[in-house]
Amino acid sequence: MRVIVVGAGIGGLTAALTLRRAGIDAQVFEQATELREVGAGIQISPNGTRILHRLGLAETLRKVAVRPVAVEVHRWDNGRVLTRQLLADVCERNFGAPYYHLHRADLLDVLAEALPKRTLHLDHRCVGLIQHADKVELKFHNGLTADADVVVGADGIHSTVRELILGPESPHFSGHVAYRGLVPAERLAHLGLEKSAFSWWGPDHHFVHYFVGAGGRYMNWVAIACGEWRIESWTARGEVADALKEFAGWHPQIGAIIGAADTTNRWALYDRDPLPRWTVGRVALMGDGAHAMLPYMAQGAVQSIEDAAVLAKCLERADVRDVGAALRRYEEIRRPRASRCQTGSRSNGVMYHLADGEEQRKRDSNLGAAATAPLPQNSWLYGHDVEAELDC
Ligand SMILES: Cc1cc2nc3c(=O)[nH]c(=O)nc-3n(C[C@H](O)[C@H](O)[C@H](O)COP(=O)(O)OP(=O)(O)OC[C@H]3O[C@@H](n4cnc5c(N)ncnc54)[C@H](O)[C@@H]3O)c2cc1C
Repeated sequence: MRVIVVGAGIGGLTAALTLRRAGIDAQVFEQATELREVGAGIQISPNGTRILHRLGLAETLRKVAVRPVAVEVHRWDNGRVLTRQLLADVCERNFGAPYYHLHRADLLDVLAEALPKRTLHLDHRCVGLIQHADKVELKFHNGLTADADVVVGADGIHSTVRELILGPESPHFSGHVAYRGLVPAERLAHLGLEKSAFSWWGPDHHFVHYFVGAGGRYMNWVAIACGEWRIESWTARGEVADALKEFAGWHPQIGAIIGAADTTNRWALYDRDPLPRWTVGRVALMGDGAHAMLPYMAQGAVQSIEDAAVLAKCLERADVRDVGAALRRYEEIRRPRASRCQTGSRSNGVMYHLADGEEQRKRDSNLGAAATAPLPQNSWLYGHDVEAELDC
């Protein structure tokens, strides 16, 4: 079987790896002229790392990842700890795989280097798609064409493949804006911070920071504020001073972390409602192309890794003349779980940003009560092994 994956993000590259492991000829076509990721961090929970480990990436990942000690939620003004849940060994013991903090570029490098170079075709922007009874034909902006038994749209939230099979539809603006920064860790040594994930919740804002890069070389921070700023490109240079202004009056640690950055980028945050379907004929969607979500469960990329694992398992057993049935099975397995993350991420956006008052006090006392290790509320997510489910 021959599969073309459109898009070489975390989802597309992982799909190429899982498909090739299943004995399928997978080729990746990417619009960019080089593989790039934004200079920022990413959290990969055990439901993603166990899949990456089975692809033989445990050793390379371990070298570039930070294994956080715990996750802590703090109150925005006085820094009171609302909950602390252990990760590291406790997480591995309970879920059988580590929780990792990574620099995005490191993760992309690990994935790309595990693929044979000849499978990656850069500078190929997909602009057209024709389904035939026995194959799919793709057209690229450079006039080239390619065909395969199956096409996978791993081309992100603006997915061209999705538009070509399901028609145009605009993503939903959340009303939230994210500033992101990366600070050399030595600049923040005076704060004496543990290698953990810290989340600070307050009215209409929240702030997240954790170490990334081999040995925790950088502090990655994300500052979310409510606002009507939205621009076509979604990502733009921001001003550190603007991010500082948004968090005026918050605990001094937040100002110290934001202020240590030389630059910041700004994202208008969009997501989509769960799609009614992810597949048409011989074409399937995955990753942000299928289930774009807000980053408030740290699951967008992890869910794309799960997609990649399930897709390969479904296609591995498929008859090349009837791939439609295998793709529908992939969609049936994946859609409920990814949709739950989409809606859960939206609800978290409301919960994190509650104004001080009765609802906030109730939230905080529930959080305190749930502080048993590790993250028991997430066992449906971190403890679930999508590959094992299909093996039996
Ligand atoms: C602030 C923030 C924090 C986040 N934190 C986390 C986190 O901690 N954990 C987590 O799991 N997720 C997180 N996410 C979500 C995560 O970044 C995304 O869900 C993930 O990167 C999506 O991967 P993807 O491969 O589906 O798409 P993308 O990374 O968008 O990759 C799509 C690729 O397709 C290419 N492409 C697009 N169109 C075409 C075309 N027509 N032809 C060819 N190629 C094309 C693009 O150039 C790109 O390389 C966060 C997101 C944000 C905004």
